[in-house]
Amino acid sequence: MSDSSISIVPKLSVYPEREIKAKAILEWLVSLDIVSPFLTDCVLSSSHGYAIAEGAKNISEEPELLPYSLMNNGLEIITERRIFHTGQNGIDSLVCPVCSQDISNKDWEFLSEWDDNRSNNLTCPLCNVPTEIHQFKFTPEWGFSDLGFAFWNWGSLKDSFIEDFRKILGCDISLVYTRI
Ligand SMILES: [Zn+2]
Repeated sequence: MSDSSISIVPKLSVYPEREIKAKAILEWLVSLDIVSPFLTDCVLSSSHGYAIAEGAKNISEEPELLPYSLMNNGLEIITERRIFHTGQNGIDSLVCPVCSQDISNKDWEFLSEWDDNRSNNLTCPLCNVPTEIHQFKFTPEWGFSDLGFAFWNWGSLKDSFIEDFRKILGCDISLVYTRI
């Protein structure tokens, strides 16, 4: 079986005081018994995560499918600038907000400007206008921030939970569905 994740990512390239917010969100999730408070080897990456706990059943659309029996079942909290991409889910289109053209079939070198932290923009290879990266329309959705929360193999999360998450972050969010 392949692994998948849902990432909740602020639509801010640079999130203010992200370490403090990451800690506050972890405390909120632990208080609802959604994740364990201890870091363990439960996510599919080189870092560690917070394993799924009983309360996750209350915020899942399909609690019977939650990954209690899987190794990779935790929450990974990312606090470094990262492109949250969709993995094998790929990309169908990437539309420039200025010229409205689909640039998904162009050379993806244009992402390095953001990835290398030279700016928070993406410069369209067709009209050459730089625009803040979140103004581009990625389908399916990708995320770009120095803060993000990846739930490994949890399936669908309830809308009410995602809305609560958005309120605590205090900004719009990207929901990124990744398959490895
Ligand atoms: Zn353009």
